[in-house]
Amino acid sequence: MPCETGTEIARAAKLLREGKLVAFATETVYGLGAHALDDRAAAGIFAAKERPAFDPLIVHIAERAQLNELVSEVPDLAVKLADAFWPGPLTMVLPKREIVPDLVTSGLPSVAVRIPAHPIARELLRTAGIPVAAPSANLFGQVSPTTAAHVSEQLGDRIDYILDGGPCTVGLESTVVAITREWVTLLRPGGTPVEVIEEVVGKVMIPEPAGPESDETAQHSPGMLTKHYAPRKPLFIVDDLSQASKKWNPAETGVLLLEESPLTEDFASVESLSPAGDLTEAAMNFFAALRRLDKADIARIVATPFPDQGLGRALNDRLRRASVR
Ligand code: AMP
Ligand code: MG
Repeated sequence: MPCETGTEIARAAKLLREGKLVAFATETVYGLGAHALDDRAAAGIFAAKERPAFDPLIVHIAERAQLNELVSEVPDLAVKLADAFWPGPLTMVLPKREIVPDLVTSGLPSVAVRIPAHPIARELLRTAGIPVAAPSANLFGQVSPTTAAHVSEQLGDRIDYILDGGPCTVGLESTVVAITREWVTLLRPGGTPVEVIEEVVGKVMIPEPAGPESDETAQHSPGMLTKHYAPRKPLFIVDDLSQASKKWNPAETGVLLLEESPLTEDFASVESLSPAGDLTEAAMNFFAALRRLDKADIARIVATPFPDQGLGRALNDRLRRASVR
């Protein structure tokens, strides 16, 4: 049974506050929204979309005042851009505060934020009173939805409500820029043309397109300013923990795995992401666990792969990127 499509803003706002998934109209495309500060809710987005990798999400806010809750610094260039283009299809990537879950930023130290211009989206965000993380409300690899019916067809039975705001007027994703004190760098072209941005802040840096061999990395290292979180400790993917304890001294080795296992007994530190083997819970815990292992008094991390289905695919993708190859 697909979920209800309607125009009840208060209901949609309440669902978001409760950690549920609500698709809503923005001027760019329909977004699949969840409470941005609730990592389980954010994990739900990736599960519903069946994304094979964790891509960082854009966090939507209603008012500029909310920005300070999410980011640790607002350079002058960001103030200028906000004055000129917010609300509207411009997303700014700024240094994140601790409060923003790693899953929302895919482990990046920065967070992408925007104020949408669609009056219903803004009213929803204002009523909910929380920042809302939202990628486009479609299944992975499918076309972005620009009407409530598009969303209902693909995601209707996986989410809790669709807030209908009519067809999207821009119909193209937002422009994403990274901001430092000195530079504005284009990470993704979109609804706000670069030329118009340059009228406000001068030259925008446009990174060279990555070569074919770095395709995979390019998709995940939007811009050159930010680096994806990868542990400083070497991480090895192993199929079998008993083999791993022969190869490496377990007293100097940490383990990352889905469910608890008696085979981890001798290892120095163990991060089991979900005792029940629940991939949504695992996704929610993944980056934090990786960080803890990185800080632990160990020489290396070994990780066993996740079941290759649903969020397990995204988790395996992340694991591969974090691993020594
Ligand atoms: P989507 O929500 O699918 O329209 O995509 C959001 C896009 O914003 C991502 O694919 C990235 O290109 C970009 N993005 C989001 N968060 C960050 C971040 N923290 N750093 C750099 N780029 C980001
Ligand atoms: Mg998308």
